[in-house]
Amino acid sequence: MNFDLTAEQEQLRDAVRTLGRRYGHSYFVEKARAGAHTTELWHEAGRLGYLGVNIPTEYGGGGGGITELAIVCEELAAAGCPLLLLVVSPAIAATVIARHGTEAQRKRHLPGLADGSRKIVFAITEPEAGSNFHRLGTVARRDGADWLLSGRKCYISGVDEAGHVLVVARVAVGDGPASSAEAAPQKLKPALFIVPTDAPGLTSSKLDMQIVSPENQFLLYLDDVRLPADALVGESLDAGLPALFSGLNPERITVAAMGAGTGRYAIERASGYTTTRKVWGGRSIGSHQGVAHPLAHAAVQVELARLMIYKAATLYDAGRDLEAGVSGNMSKYAAGEAAALAVDTAVQALGGAGMTTEYGVATLLGAVRAGRIAPVSREMILNFVAQHVLGQEKSY
Ligand SMILES: Cc1cc2nc3c(=O)[nH]c(=O)nc-3n(C[C@H](O)[C@H](O)[C@H](O)COP(=O)(O)OP(=O)(O)OC[C@H]3O[C@@H](n4cnc5c(N)ncnc54)[C@H](O)[C@@H]3O)c2cc1C
Repeated sequence: MNFDLTAEQEQLRDAVRTLGRRYGHSYFVEKARAGAHTTELWHEAGRLGYLGVNIPTEYGGGGGGITELAIVCEELAAAGCPLLLLVVSPAIAATVIARHGTEAQRKRHLPGLADGSRKIVFAITEPEAGSNFHRLGTVARRDGADWLLSGRKCYISGVDEAGHVLVVARVAVGDGPASSAEAAPQKLKPALFIVPTDAPGLTSSKLDMQIVSPENQFLLYLDDVRLPADALVGESLDAGLPALFSGLNPERITVAAMGAGTGRYAIERASGYTTTRKVWGGRSIGSHQGVAHPLAHAAVQVELARLMIYKAATLYDAGRDLEAGVSGNMSKYAAGEAAALAVDTAVQALGGAGMTTEYGVATLLGAVRAGRIAPVSREMILNFVAQHVLGQEKSY
């Protein structure tokens, strides 16, 4: 057993930390308040190769794995820049295309994803289906050689910044009508489509979220969006389900890394403050265990989550997908809870300063709260663990 990063991974961590600190949380908040994006940081990270660490070298990436991408997510968040689009574009979209795309799709999309010039966001959630992906109502149907996509998606991050969106739809297969008591009903198979965000028939509207972030969420409307045959990810409809699943572990692991980094950032801000703030004579407020212990407790929770994140990433990179699924879900649960605890505890330790924009901690309350809901809620992870680890009957 080895808990150490390799020398290259340590170098990556130090370099990303340096980059993140050069921008810092005030840059992140300024962009959010101005309704702008962290474009400079994104492009610099792309130029330095950090956005493509997990993309194969033949397509312009670093040839590393999800461990390296988790390091990038964690360190940028630990510097106060939790970039959700890292989870969506390099973690989900690049993994899906690298693993299940056609050679033409890999050549077309991966180099741009690697250098950050291209962003592909991810759309699975729907208003009616919510956590129940079996109810997805976005349907793709053939029209000659083309596809026509119709449906609605919600909470889709980064649509305004991306050239493409990876849409999860369902395609009717089989001979029978879509619904009929007599004939064999058509089956709806999941399929992924790479859809240009300026495609005719695709419209979006921004959701007003209570999260301080330069990255926004959108409702997406697909109204007979016409796509060429090669918009379908993979060589055939059989690629759909494995492609969808291949994005889930990277998503959970990198979002967890972002949560752990955010937790570290908050604890560092607070513990720096509590060692110098004195309101009872010469002693710092951190000398009071009522202040120090909650911070220490949060630090323990964050570190425990980090252990599970890097275990999950190591399993994933070793090709042990099923075990990575269990650890990835557990890491996402642990990091979501730890990040929310760390930020709330840091706000409390900072007192009034905790609620100011200047100290940069309360600005993260919305984001860490959302981290217990998205991209998979804590309840759905508990359902997964209860069923797959504890052998309980499926409850839904
Ligand atoms: C900031 C943010 C960014 C997002 N970005 C994206 C994105 O880029 N792309 C995308 O596709 N989606 C995105 N989402 C959507 C996110 O993945 C969903 O919000 C999440 O999966 C939960 O779905 P829901 O909101 O429909 O909740 P619902 O499914 O309506 O659930 C509501 C509550 O009920 C609980 N619940 C539901 N079913 C069960 C059950 N069987 N057992 C126990 N509890 C249950 C849930 O845990 C939750 O607490 C984002 C969401 C947020 C908040």
